Amino acid sequence: MTRPVHIHGGALAGCAAAIAAIQAQSPQVRVYEKSAFPRHKVCGEFLSSGVQPVLRQLGIWESFQALRPAPMSRLLLHFPRKTFRFHLPEVCWGLTRYRLDAWLRHHAMQAGAEWCQELAPTPSANNANVATVLAHGRKDTAPKGQRVFGFKAHHRGAISDAIELFFFDGCYVGVNPAEDGVTNVCGLGPEALLKQHGFEYDALCRRSPALAARLSTLTRHMDWLSVGPLVYGDRFRAALPDAVYPAGDALGFVDPFTGSGMLNALLSGSLAGRSAALGDAVPAYLAHCRRLLHRPFLVSAIFRAALRSGVGERFAGFVPGSVLFHLTRAHLGQPHGPAPGSF
Ligand SMILES: Cc1cc2nc3c(=O)[nH]c(=O)nc-3n(C[C@H](O)[C@H](O)[C@H](O)COP(=O)(O)OP(=O)(O)OC[C@H]3O[C@@H](n4cnc5c(N)ncnc54)[C@H](O)[C@@H]3O)c2cc1C
Repeated sequence: MTRPVHIHGGALAGCAAAIAAIQAQSPQVRVYEKSAFPRHKVCGEFLSSGVQPVLRQLGIWESFQALRPAPMSRLLLHFPRKTFRFHLPEVCWGLTRYRLDAWLRHHAMQAGAEWCQELAPTPSANNANVATVLAHGRKDTAPKGQRVFGFKAHHRGAISDAIELFFFDGCYVGVNPAEDGVTNVCGLGPEALLKQHGFEYDALCRRSPALAARLSTLTRHMDWLSVGPLVYGDRFRAALPDAVYPAGDALGFVDPFTGSGMLNALLSGSLAGRSAALGDAVPAYLAHCRRLLHRPFLVSAIFRAALRSGVGERFAGFVPGSVLFHLTRAHLGQPHGPAPGSF
């Protein structure tokens, strides 16, 4: 017998959970979302190729293609002294969160989810008849002084088929195409440096000559948005109440330079929705997520440490981009994606 599923948060993990729970025959799926969609969100908007099997399993891959996401086939890593150029092993996609989140919401509702435009209630500890998926994104905070903030703005101008990452002064900024000729510029940096620039992101970007040159081909057409503090970590081994399944960033926040957070959210959201509906034990669900996602979390932590200690450029020269790309993706176990229902 399947259970009703209540989902806290209606972005990527939440909507994937809703569709998967409905596919698993949950008798009632309810999504609580505090924000009205569409809305802009701070995100690099780079979707890994690995989203294809996940969206296929949710039955929405063809619909995703109809949104005309921008294809990307190259990766450029710019360090102060050197640029590394690679071909991505598979085509990846750029799509704005403005479009992506509203599209997912549409599919969750079309599948039969009940949408509640409100803050989620506290999960009730003694009602195991209703399963809860926590898909509310990051909630952790960090001590002042050690904080990192993200920022983004859409630009227009010269369109490229590359994701470019610029590393400088403890910051990195990604520049990549999205749909309809938009170029997204999104980065993150330490609080102390951002403060030094009065949180003026145009000025911050000019610290990197290579980034300044790239931005000279573009015109910003929205105000900068910012978010933070960003805290990396995971809850794969967390002790949680019965019938509470964390997914997406609520399960673990991986360093955005990997460009795999949205894939992780769609993947863990799908698994959480299905597990919640079918009544799988929470520790078994978490162990499954850990098997799939442990590697990108570990490798991104190693790369982050290399960047902090100033050897990021050597690390990138030593590990080819295609290998780094592979190591920072979910371990789906099969070269062409998972068989239906498995991952
Ligand atoms: C600077 C930056 C750049 C990034 N770049 C990339 C990238 O290029 N590629 C990539 O794959 N990933 C990237 N990521 C990561 C990616 O944005 C996240 O992994 C992804 O958004 C996680 O999706 P989610 O559904 O788990 O959470 P979110 O997208 O954060 O959604 C959570 C939802 O829950 C809602 N919510 C929160 N609390 C409540 C509540 N109490 N009640 C009701 N609703 C609630 C929120 O309104 C929100 O809509 C980036 C992240 C940052 C910060």
